[in-house]
Amino acid sequence: MNEGVSIEEINQLPKIDLHCHLDGSLTRSMITELLGREVALSELQVADDNKNLAEYLEKFDLPLQCLQTRESLFRAAKDFMLSLVQDNIIYVEVRFAPLLSVRNGMSSYQVFEAVLEGMKEGSKLTGIEFGIIVCAMRHHSVEDSLRMAKDLRDFLHCGLCAFDIAGNEAAYPMSEFAGLFSGIRRMGYPFTAHAGECGNARNIVDSIELGARRIGHGIAASHNHDVISLCKSKHIGIEMCPTSNLQTKAVLSMDDYPIREFIDAGLMVTVNTDNRTVSGTNMSKEMKLLVDKCGISIDELVQIKNVAGTNFCDIFAQTNNEILFVTSAIDNLIKGASGAAIENANLMFGLNEDEALPKVAYAP
Ligand SMILES: [Zn+2]
Repeated sequence: MNEGVSIEEINQLPKIDLHCHLDGSLTRSMITELLGREVALSELQVADDNKNLAEYLEKFDLPLQCLQTRESLFRAAKDFMLSLVQDNIIYVEVRFAPLLSVRNGMSSYQVFEAVLEGMKEGSKLTGIEFGIIVCAMRHHSVEDSLRMAKDLRDFLHCGLCAFDIAGNEAAYPMSEFAGLFSGIRRMGYPFTAHAGECGNARNIVDSIELGARRIGHGIAASHNHDVISLCKSKHIGIEMCPTSNLQTKAVLSMDDYPIREFIDAGLMVTVNTDNRTVSGTNMSKEMKLLVDKCGISIDELVQIKNVAGTNFCDIFAQTNNEILFVTSAIDNLIKGASGAAIENANLMFGLNEDEALPKVAYAP
């Protein structure tokens, strides 16, 4: 299809990853260091014949063992940031579940603080900007998740940019979390939700009705006119993660991958990695896959990056010089984009003709 677009060209594009789990993206070398033993790749990365989401999730056991002390959380977060340099990432929204790191008695506040410090240190060394999305887990009680949200409230807009819900979607439908998300909304958190990853479009609708501004995966919206229309009318960002979706059998082959359908329907699609280590991927690989298998052009990749306007970060509202690095990089992407992409970006950023740079974030 577009095989003329080389991986080198794709490598050079500045990139934004809005759906990336810290535990699933710890580097093998860091896990080896933290566990104090050599770790085989097969212990961390899913095999080609991975059967489903449940088997995929087993690969998180070892990384989570590593994320149980202040020191290891700091080192893991810093190392994660360093690992993004070769992928030419300019802004990342990393997500993790603090309540999965409290086995040794740390509070979710202490867990978050350690990750934030590591991310800041990594950002200082790499120049990569970041936001942290905190995940509630579906198998945890709503009370525990609400308590965590309350404990972490001080960090909102100070490194913490949004809330998410992750875990076994089939066993815990979104309708069970109405109380959680009304509480989250009252506390002022913008949020995304893993929904419609493996089959259930109802979860997408419920998430949006509860106030989600973005949907993680959203594959189940495919061929569902009502759900697609809802996502479009509400300007919902769709966080697509192609390799992960193949591995968990959310789609059976790239021939069935709905990104072309979503783009043509006018949805605000982003491309993301989900889990860099577990899935054995990075942004360049994801983009190359879409170019080769879904006929996505370079212009469309740029357009997709403009949809980074669905990010949760309030960096665009800040005037800090350091922040301009990201805004100007995104601005360059916008300038290089096609007319339709510029129009989209203007709409999303609320720009008028006199404004050279995006000034406001996608408001929560
Ligand atoms: Zn995910």
